Amino acid sequence: MKNIKQVDLKGKKVLLRVDFDVPVSDGGQIEESFRIKKQKETLDYLVSQEAQVVMVAHISAVSSFADLIPQMHILLGYEIGFIKTVPEVGVYFENYAGPALLDNIRQNSGEEKNDLEFAKQLAVGFDLYVNNAFAVCHRNHASVSAIATVLPSYAGFLIEEEIARLQEVIDSPKDEKLLIMGGAKASTKIPVIKNFLDKADKILIGGVIANDILKAKGQDVGDSVVDENASELLVGLNLDSPQLIMPKDYNIFENKRLDIGPEAISEFSEIIKNYKMIIWNGPMGLFENDDFAQGTRAIAQAIAESSARKIIGGGDTISAIDKFGLNGRFDFVSTGGGAMLAFLSGNKLPGLEALN
Ligand code: ADP
Ligand code: MG
Repeated sequence: MKNIKQVDLKGKKVLLRVDFDVPVSDGGQIEESFRIKKQKETLDYLVSQEAQVVMVAHISAVSSFADLIPQMHILLGYEIGFIKTVPEVGVYFENYAGPALLDNIRQNSGEEKNDLEFAKQLAVGFDLYVNNAFAVCHRNHASVSAIATVLPSYAGFLIEEEIARLQEVIDSPKDEKLLIMGGAKASTKIPVIKNFLDKADKILIGGVIANDILKAKGQDVGDSVVDENASELLVGLNLDSPQLIMPKDYNIFENKRLDIGPEAISEFSEIIKNYKMIIWNGPMGLFENDDFAQGTRAIAQAIAESSARKIIGGGDTISAIDKFGLNGRFDFVSTGGGAMLAFLSGNKLPGLEALN
């Protein structure tokens, strides 16, 4: 993988793939800007080297970036030009006036199909491609994957940082490592649990994943939220492994297991003290509701207070630490939810493969 310090950037027209997939309130306010701020280091470097930068990104919360551009000025510290469509990129370069953002790339039907013809259209006018969008590297999309076959391609600083930190998690000694897995999406989380049985000493389980495992063990979970695909995904995982630590008790409301209970909190908090490397993804319960936030809050606090190296990630996990005021208490916060989990599952990520 080549990095941007290995190329002369002066005067080069750079297509920078960034991750600006942020939550937006009904009033149009960016609610969580962590991902945008994480792009600044690479953008600043490209600008300082006198590259001409057009950023490409997708957003799910709204259909267009148009109304968010003024907030981007503030978050990134530049006037950000706005380019509505792919063919207008060439026009922008004719009167280049600082970094610009192309509108939501997923408005183009070729993007999610990883269409090579679309990637070629997108590449017109550019000299090189820099991928700095770790959070979409698990997607085989044109601006992540096919584009790298069309333009000379480089990894941005964030991609390098994410790979280094997550590889460190994988490579650190097993007996010093604890995985804490909660949240809901079984398809992304169960593969990590499977992969970490040989990589972590213990795995603490909470959230909907705990309900899924209880159900798979034949226990009655009442009306608890479960993932319909979990039982299939759990095939091949030894549910009775002594490494898998299930909650001793739960906070149950209206026949739903909505959080881990007080005994689980104290057991998990004790276990957390014994490790040098902790990787955490996924809330322990329905933390958005204060009545069911206690488990997630206590576990987040215990991790923050431990002397371990602490790596966390996941959109809702980040919202949770925000809510509890624990920002800045972790050694590394991954910008990748699905991408981080895919990496930790041992999967090859199309966006990273494309850069190799
Ligand atoms: P992340 O984004 O951190 O990877 P997920 O998206 O997988 O996490 O899951 C987070 C969601 O799971 C949150 O909305 C949370 O409320 C929900 N959740 C966790 N535990 C439970 C539970 N026991 N019952 C219902 N919802 C839960
Ligand atoms: Mg989530």
